[in-house]
Amino acid sequence: MKIYIKGIEDERFHRPLTLIGNLFFEETELCFIEDDHTLEAEFFIQEDDECVSITGNLLTEDGKRYEANKEKQIPVNVEGKERLRQVKNTLSFVYLTLLQDYTGMIQKWGILTGIRPTKLYHKKRQEGMSTENIHKMFKEEYLLSDEKINLMKQIVERQLEVIPDLDSLSNEVSIYVGIPFCPTKCAYCTFPAYAINGRQGSVTSFLGGLHYEMREIGRWLKEKNIKITTVYYGGGTPTSITAEEMDMLYEEMAESFPHLENIREITVEAGRPDTITKEKLDILNKWKIDRISINPQSYTQATLKAIGRHHTVEETIEKFHLARSMGMNNINMDLIIGLPGEGVDEFDYSLAESAKLMPESLTVHTLSFKRASEMTQNKHKYKVASREEITTMMDHAVSWTKDHGYTPYYLYRQKNILGNLENVGYALKGQDSLYNIMIMEEQQTIIGIGCGAASKFVHPVTRKITHFANPKDPKSYNDGFEHYTNEKISILEELFSK
Ligand code: SF4
Repeated sequence: MKIYIKGIEDERFHRPLTLIGNLFFEETELCFIEDDHTLEAEFFIQEDDECVSITGNLLTEDGKRYEANKEKQIPVNVEGKERLRQVKNTLSFVYLTLLQDYTGMIQKWGILTGIRPTKLYHKKRQEGMSTENIHKMFKEEYLLSDEKINLMKQIVERQLEVIPDLDSLSNEVSIYVGIPFCPTKCAYCTFPAYAINGRQGSVTSFLGGLHYEMREIGRWLKEKNIKITTVYYGGGTPTSITAEEMDMLYEEMAESFPHLENIREITVEAGRPDTITKEKLDILNKWKIDRISINPQSYTQATLKAIGRHHTVEETIEKFHLARSMGMNNINMDLIIGLPGEGVDEFDYSLAESAKLMPESLTVHTLSFKRASEMTQNKHKYKVASREEITTMMDHAVSWTKDHGYTPYYLYRQKNILGNLENVGYALKGQDSLYNIMIMEEQQTIIGIGCGAASKFVHPVTRKITHFANPKDPKSYNDGFEHYTNEKISILEELFSK
């Protein structure tokens, strides 16, 4: 879809226009000088010290014309970046309205294209805005549907119920441990996940680096008397290493990290059922790991094959029962809406199977086409459901979780997500993943150690965020882990010195 944009010279507005366009059409191309195009959008921006007023016209190939406008008061003392943000939002508002009118498609998330809508909800709440005014703001300024605003409200309330001190946890940190190995690579995957077979040598050296990082970061936290709120082992699949390697790693964690007994939650993703064994579950129990994930993604065998997961549906169920029988009482399971070849029937079947297991939490993802995945690069090979079907599946997930006693406790959105929907974590009472809340709401520093681990440093007072990423591939990590550890410690020194 090529759209000719008139009246917008400032390049800083091009990105929001592209993002809004992509909500409606597969690939939007904007052109700013007249060329072959399907739609023409013209904008008139009038701005003075206290107000911005934008009018937009949309002209279609068959000569139909749509018009929209929006006026926004911007106080004189709002300047610089914040002023620009407000003008951008006003432009997005007008453009979204035009495209909604033209396509008849309603965007339930309005002009919000960011990945963390609830973070904005928390920010407004922390600034003292009332629930009614937050609702009004999202509805009138961002064009969100009541349904999505109420979802955010429910999530924010739930988060504050399970972490009542959420607003004051910026003096603590959480830790993410990245283990970049998997038995095979799934087709939609963009995580650092290297096939483990035949790479034992590199696994050993990787773990050497990881132990080092754990020790050094732990030492620093002890010295500064900084508490750890949660720990999360992800990857890859952290249970793809051997039981012995897991044992040594958790022993290192227990020795290095301050006050293991006070950490509120330790999660190990055991995502791929084909990595779970009795020995490994014994180790998880030995080190009192609170929560694990066993991820079916789908209960339809043909789907698992199509996406490159070399395990059976039965194995997922069997490993779930094994973990349960060995005392694991907080198990998360992930489902994905919109996997290739799946429609409402297959998804309903997955929900029905989930009902037999009743995991403590169920995370419902909507498939997203990430640029680097095998699936996106060979998009023509994969048949995915229509936007309407995706929405129906999401609606079924919402009613199923409600009927089975689950409450939504976190959500995030991604670019290129099917149907412009969201990923939502649901949990039974008191079984919510605290780490997922911490990572999503960005209320405290998350130190990432291991391969592909991204650290997010949140300033305890200003909440300004600094990012730092460890390399994704084991070789670069093995070559430089000391350097990456030192870099993080110096950022932490700076952050926590004041
Ligand atoms: S199990 Fe997860 S990390 Fe591993 S390849 Fe599949 S999607 Fe990627």
